[in-house]
Amino acid sequence: MNTHTPSPNTLVRQPETVLKQVFGYSEFRDGQRAVIDAAINGQDSLVLLPTGGGKSVCYQIPALVLEGVTIVISPLISLMQDQVAQLQALDVKAAYINNSLAREEQQLVYQQLHQGLIKLLYVAPEKVLQHDFLERLSHLNVSLFAIDEAHCVSHWGHDFRPHYFRLNELKQRFAHVPMMALTATADKATRFDIVEQLKLQQPYIHTGSFDRPNIRYTIEEKFKPMVQLLRYLKEQKNQSGIIYCTSRKRVDDIAEKLADAGFNAAAYHAGMSNEHRQFVQTGFARDDIQIVVATVAFGMGINKPNVRFVLHYDIPKSIEAYYQETGRAGRDGLAAEAIMYFDPADIGRVRRFFEDIDDEQRRRVEEQRFSAMASFAEAQTCRRQILLNYFSEYQREPCGNCDICLNPPKSFDGTLVAQQALSCVYRAQQRFGLGYIVELLRGANTSRIRDNNHHELSTYGIGKDKSSEFWLSILRQLIHQGLLSQDITQGASLRLTEAARAVLKGEYALQLAEPRLQAKHVYQDKLAQFNYDKKLFARLRALRKELADADDVPPYVVFNDKTLAEMAQLMPTNDSEFLKVSGVGFTKLNKYGGEFLTAIRHYLAKQ
Ligand code: ADP
Ligand code: ZN
Repeated sequence: MNTHTPSPNTLVRQPETVLKQVFGYSEFRDGQRAVIDAAINGQDSLVLLPTGGGKSVCYQIPALVLEGVTIVISPLISLMQDQVAQLQALDVKAAYINNSLAREEQQLVYQQLHQGLIKLLYVAPEKVLQHDFLERLSHLNVSLFAIDEAHCVSHWGHDFRPHYFRLNELKQRFAHVPMMALTATADKATRFDIVEQLKLQQPYIHTGSFDRPNIRYTIEEKFKPMVQLLRYLKEQKNQSGIIYCTSRKRVDDIAEKLADAGFNAAAYHAGMSNEHRQFVQTGFARDDIQIVVATVAFGMGINKPNVRFVLHYDIPKSIEAYYQETGRAGRDGLAAEAIMYFDPADIGRVRRFFEDIDDEQRRRVEEQRFSAMASFAEAQTCRRQILLNYFSEYQREPCGNCDICLNPPKSFDGTLVAQQALSCVYRAQQRFGLGYIVELLRGANTSRIRDNNHHELSTYGIGKDKSSEFWLSILRQLIHQGLLSQDITQGASLRLTEAARAVLKGEYALQLAEPRLQAKHVYQDKLAQFNYDKKLFARLRALRKELADADDVPPYVVFNDKTLAEMAQLMPTNDSEFLKVSGVGFTKLNKYGGEFLTAIRHYLAKQ
């Protein structure tokens, strides 16, 4: 039994009213209302929703309808700043306390706090656990503790934070205050850890679907990745995106090449100074930088809702990491893309990294996680089905919005090309690797081939009618099917296996997958669901940037793209019409209504 039953008059306002008047939304999303009720009734809760699922509202509304102050624990300064900026734009009394504030600023926040002027206070875990801070809290009327990014409590995740581990002290000290843990991490071990570590008491658990239907998943075979990348970016028409690579060196290298090619791109990794990283992150948030090339260090702080693509230049280490990283695309619910370049040889390379991990249990966990990632990359069935099944969300139907669904793999009788490739390996005495064999097949005129007298081989140039990408793909498939093996000790030279004999003799028809030489990236109008006026949208977008720069906030703090597109569709000309646009509440009507309505009226007058 929960002893904390608040009397009805502690509700200052109704949740629905706050949702509409403050946030400008007319309905709760699935599950939000129940979580909010749990908090209002003093019950602990665990909220598992994907990125963009609407977690913030779950604790922001209780904070606004209950008396007292809600304490939000957040792991990163940038996240706190972002949330507070968004709340302040809605005239909600929110503040944060962290080391980026000067002493006097902190004092001011404390003063307001004790005067009951703050409804939401964001703090870092290390701060909240400090003795004097806890002391302070005990003199306040704390309505709720919200633990954002709660997966940081788990040892299994790569975001582990030691201070999160100690947050259960809050539960001991403030047993009557409900605690809400929120995360977008979907794996079960982590969920279990959160309840355990935070000592949540009979929590209400809400698990939303982890599907992100607006994200299109594509895995592209890696041939000449830089060429593939440039080709892709040319189609992106100034859309915001993130490119993830595994090493700092590669990040710097690619960022430089993109800049040389005329793209508005910047690098981000842990080897850069704090100021420099901050500069890149802010520039990206404000649409001043279009593309960020980054290591996984570019992570949790990315709250930008209009990231239109996330591209993995290298295979990530686990499905969890991949899903979290791709999840940074399309938070606003508009169409977005997740693309990964995949070279099967990278699997061996990554595996060798794990050998250096001393802790045996840790190594085994990492290896297992990577195996799952590798089979995902190699699979030829609906990408989304595999991902969701991995997170125990069984999907019966293929999704219709991944590369496999949109462009199903075709197989063909590959006996002849396999014979050509295998005999070429054989004639070259099984002493050469993939690249060289491809050159031989294509009849390349290189000094290495001439030095080896290989231009005289009968197989020299037998495949010159096909591209090198084609042959690379075929050779990789032959390895995959066990007809060729790669000897890593001998410079990755290819050798025939016993099984190759039957193919060479033509004893059966070998089915191979038709190489997918160039992924079909059909350019999507990311706002296609709105039948909006594009010219007006461009005007409103420019106005938004102007207003945002004047207030020193990212454009999405003014309005997000979805709200803007709806404006360019409905074309409101007065206050009550303006309020009907999703994402427009009273505060934003008062703050920005005048300027946006004027712009729309002007535009209409000229039509
Ligand atoms: P999360 O923290 O789960 O990643 P957010 O809380 O940032 O997601 O919400 C994602 C977007 O959805 C935000 O723009 C938010 O304002 C919007 N949103 C949240 N709840 C609703 C709702 N009930 N109706 C419409 N939009 C909503
Ligand atoms: Zn699919």
